[in-house]
Amino acid sequence: MTVDARMSGNLASATGSITIDLGRVGANWKALAAKVRPAQCGAVVKANAYGLGADRIIPALARAGCSTFFIATPEEAETARKLAPNAEIYALDGLVGNSAAAFARQGVKPVLSTLDDVVAWSALCQSRSEKLPAALHIDTGLNRLGLPVRDVRRLAADPGLMAGMSLDLVMSHLASADNPRDPKNRDQLVAFETLSALFPNTRRSLAASDGLMLGAAYHFNLVRPGYAIYGGQASQIAPAPVKPAVTVAARILAVADVAPGETVGYSATWRAKRPSRIATIAAGYADGVPRTGSAPDGRPGGHVVIAGHVAPFVGRVSMDLVTVDITDLPNGAARPGEFATLIGEGLTVEDAGFAAGTIGYEILTRLGPRFTRLYIEDETR
Ligand SMILES: *Cc1c(COP(=O)(O)O)cnc(C)c1O
Repeated sequence: MTVDARMSGNLASATGSITIDLGRVGANWKALAAKVRPAQCGAVVKANAYGLGADRIIPALARAGCSTFFIATPEEAETARKLAPNAEIYALDGLVGNSAAAFARQGVKPVLSTLDDVVAWSALCQSRSEKLPAALHIDTGLNRLGLPVRDVRRLAADPGLMAGMSLDLVMSHLASADNPRDPKNRDQLVAFETLSALFPNTRRSLAASDGLMLGAAYHFNLVRPGYAIYGGQASQIAPAPVKPAVTVAARILAVADVAPGETVGYSATWRAKRPSRIATIAAGYADGVPRTGSAPDGRPGGHVVIAGHVAPFVGRVSMDLVTVDITDLPNGAARPGEFATLIGEGLTVEDAGFAAGTIGYEILTRLGPRFTRLYIEDETR
């Protein structure tokens, strides 16, 4: 691991670290914003900015020029409002519990996805005699959150349901935008064009990290990337103009020789076929290194990079530890106390996800609290 002069955080007794390059995060957002101009570019910072630390990511994005943030929950809204006092903030989960009054007070715009929520927000606005803004989430085929077509038409036919409020944005979300060839993209685009036209003079938003790579037709007024800002590649085919911003490393605790025939780890799933050297690394499934990334015989699992060399996981990933085969590394390359790289140096979050039968998003957002977060400050700070 390289130590950067602009780095903040303390590694002294850490078992593992996540290093987040705030300048790179800002640069990624700027590159996405440039790609979609004249559409606007927001930033999705839900789930503590994909696990990277909303307290550092939101201000860094604001310094890069981002003024529109999407979070999911009321608690995240409160945090985001403190960190970005003047930004537009949208709450994707909509009105949860009794959050409406807090949203009104904080100037947070709920993303409404049921008629009941539309009516509730409208009533709150009327009781306060304030036309407070909200977004409307319409479903165009994901069948997850969003007003179904029937309710969209009902609302359009009876605008009185929205009488008290100000409709600020109409949005929908794509199911298959990670595959540009999937005809579902086109179907949802057409559905969104048709349904959003029922709310004239309202800003529109359809695309996330993968959708914005489908071309300008998908950009509308505002795009909502999250993953790509943090350096993730959401599309299977069209690479986003971003670079990795996150590296993850964990301490090598021990290096040991294992004789042929000996096994490594729980349930003895890996057996040495030759005289082997095994390094034990201080990160496990409690830290978000998925147990499904274990490498039972015959199937490749996860990898680490040690002193520039790739070493494969062997045996089961356990709660606090993974074991890797360093037999093919030069003698002395793996030293206890040094760090092994889990993500970085050519190992992407997508690689880590693939090795565990999941996606990079899940790897990123589940990295646990035992990793010390280190931040490389951006230049403008
Ligand atoms: C999470 C989310 C996004 C961001 O998605 P990425 O793939 O991370 O860019 C955008 N819109 C909605 C509705 C979301 O839930």
